[in-house]
Amino acid sequence: MTCSIDTNSGFCFGVTRAIKAAESELQNGSLCCLGDIVHNGQEVARLELLGLRTIDYDDLRTLPSHSRVLLRAHGEPPSTYWIAQQRGIEVIDATCPVVKKLQDRIRACYETHRNDEPQPPQIVIYGKPGHAEVIGLQGQTNNTAIVIESPDQLDRLDFNRPIYLFSQTTKSVEGFQELVASIEARRSKCRDLETSRCREESASFEYHDTICRNVANRVAQLQDFARSNDIVFFVGGTKSSNAKVLFNHCKEANEHTYFVSSPDEVENLKFEIINHKSKNPDLKVGICGATSTPLWLMEQVKAKLETL
Ligand code: SF4
Repeated sequence: MTCSIDTNSGFCFGVTRAIKAAESELQNGSLCCLGDIVHNGQEVARLELLGLRTIDYDDLRTLPSHSRVLLRAHGEPPSTYWIAQQRGIEVIDATCPVVKKLQDRIRACYETHRNDEPQPPQIVIYGKPGHAEVIGLQGQTNNTAIVIESPDQLDRLDFNRPIYLFSQTTKSVEGFQELVASIEARRSKCRDLETSRCREESASFEYHDTICRNVANRVAQLQDFARSNDIVFFVGGTKSSNAKVLFNHCKEANEHTYFVSSPDEVENLKFEIINHKSKNPDLKVGICGATSTPLWLMEQVKAKLETL
């Protein structure tokens, strides 16, 4: 049996940057992080052992002044910076530059069009409602942006008003294209049938594919890796939406893919491994993970597999 780790798996650039900022700032004294720095319990626990304290919004409102708070790669809405400023809290901004740029684009779109006549526009975000990055993006529009997760939610839009569509950085390119096609179809239906919801001419539609290629390009690489192994262990945090999405892509490519969040969970799959091994003595086992999975955790899973 051979075990190998996918060289394309592991932290993306934005998460690596935030973790390095935390490690470096911890050397200068106590540091809080607003929300989990990464959706991976083990990595959060490792940094907490170094002194990082994970806080929520209620904690932020009661922290003593001069406390230091790190903002993670997902980014924050303007209200967070405002609260920090009011309370005299020092912000260490580790928002991923890709997310920051997207926030700026959405805010510019909102500022440019908010007073358009005769119909104010709708800024639409293709994303997961309640996700930290999406909350930060909505904040750029004074929380007026509409969050849509799939084409079956399009009834929430008014096709008589202009639509400006953006995407959360970690959504799938296919899902975004499907949403664009569905909006286009609804708009032409408006024009052709002049349904009760539409005027003679439906309003304009502008879309911006703002998906981070750091994640999007991983799908094909991950699927190649999954196909080149007999069984695959996908290592990810149970709270990570990126881990769930990438795991499903992996499973599509290789049905013998198992989700584990720690080396101990490998033990529970011992009989599956024995079963595969009995059919194939030269079993090839692959270990891969999400953008929030640390390399050291995949190495621990590999070590555990080797002991089995
Ligand atoms: S997935 Fe892309 S946008 Fe999101 S944190 Fe990573 S590098 Fe930044």
